[in-house]
Amino acid sequence: MDFTMPEKTKVILEMTQEFLEKEVYPLEPHFVGKKFRDMWPEIKRCRAMVKKMELWGPQIPKELGGMGLSLVDHALMTEVLGSSPLAHLIFGCQAPDAGNIEILEKYATPEQREEYLVPLANGDIRSCFSMCEPELAGSNPTELATTAIRDGDQWVVNGHKWFSSSADGAKFAIVMAVTDPDAPVYLRASMIIVPTETPGFNLIRNISVMGHAGDDYASHGEIMYQNCRVPAENLLGPQGQGFVIAQERLGPGRIHHCMRWIGICNRSFDMMCKRVTERKVGGGKPLARKQIIQEWIAECRAEIHAARLMVLHAAWKIENEGQHAAREEVSMIKFFVAPIMLKVVDRAIQAHGALGVSDDTILSFFYRQERAARIYDGPDEVHKVVLSRRVLRGYDE
Ligand SMILES: Cc1cc2nc3c(=O)[nH]c(=O)nc-3n(C[C@H](O)[C@H](O)[C@H](O)COP(=O)(O)OP(=O)(O)OC[C@H]3O[C@@H](n4cnc5c(N)ncnc54)[C@H](O)[C@@H]3O)c2cc1C
Repeated sequence: MDFTMPEKTKVILEMTQEFLEKEVYPLEPHFVGKKFRDMWPEIKRCRAMVKKMELWGPQIPKELGGMGLSLVDHALMTEVLGSSPLAHLIFGCQAPDAGNIEILEKYATPEQREEYLVPLANGDIRSCFSMCEPELAGSNPTELATTAIRDGDQWVVNGHKWFSSSADGAKFAIVMAVTDPDAPVYLRASMIIVPTETPGFNLIRNISVMGHAGDDYASHGEIMYQNCRVPAENLLGPQGQGFVIAQERLGPGRIHHCMRWIGICNRSFDMMCKRVTERKVGGGKPLARKQIIQEWIAECRAEIHAARLMVLHAAWKIENEGQHAAREEVSMIKFFVAPIMLKVVDRAIQAHGALGVSDDTILSFFYRQERAARIYDGPDEVHKVVLSRRVLRGYDE
């Protein structure tokens, strides 16, 4: 097995890291606890530089102005970008747009490409993905209540969605709605593009999460779709294929999330190592001399390494054998990496003492923001149930 990194990938990662240190990390103090909308002039300035360096859109195909990297190379770049909560947006590979770009790329009609995909890939507009509903279990989306009923040459969408991330300021939503209520469970829903300016698209609020409602890109919207009429041609992909498309969106999406979390681990770990070597406790000796801290360092180092290799392997498997073949690996990384990330961030905070919970470092932001990692894109428990079921199938008589 060859773990050598190609020279070209190495250069890309070095350029990315250098740019983050020079341009992106310094923006973080202006972002934590402030209005996100006010960040756009800086984000646009950085985006222009990223485009000039040809580092825009690592996962976006070249013909759409991106780098067109392989999934493994994109995973490696995502690891570097994960070290800052602003980086993915600045490099054009932020959720939920990245997933929406992927499904538009695969399913959009020529008109949908022109109207939605091209400006989205270019970073001119934003989007959201509207699947989960407050009244029904998001971990089992077969029970959706939102409907889209065909009326002449229009779809009429009605339903209540929440946690549609980044809906505030988005140009359009990709909505998962029941179009075929009498069909078998997995063929009932479809994806429909709903421009947010459509009458009946009502963003009720940005949901307060861990004390922050956020705004603009950094928010999670609750939306009422009330007799929201869109043209019939806004159906994305074949009717009744909503679940298939959602699954396609989630496979690479989980690689992106997990590698972003490894990036958070790396940054938090680095901060912890710096802090424990600098901070003197008792007799002028650094914290790093304490055995309990050394144990944290060793454990975190090994856990980050294991998690990283698992994610890269899952990315490699998707790339070489397809999403279907990599289902177990994708489930494994989703529930394995998130708790490791949370543990590393927690230990880094602990090592920083009061400074760790203050907003003077990025650690408190990671702690608040990333608890959700164990819930979205399938809660840990669901992935564990799915994985164990698959494993045990091999033992069934
Ligand atoms: C920060 C954040 C961003 C999000 N962004 C989006 C978005 O952009 N678009 C969107 O549509 N949705 C989004 N979501 C919603 C997310 O997909 C759902 O929260 C997730 O699918 C879980 O659904 P639920 O919250 O309804 O929990 P439920 O389905 O009610 O589950 C609650 C808990 O029950 C347990 N559980 C559930 N099923 C099982 C099982 N089979 N076996 C054992 N235990 C189980 C788990 O512990 C789970 O956490 C986001 C959520 C968060 C927190």
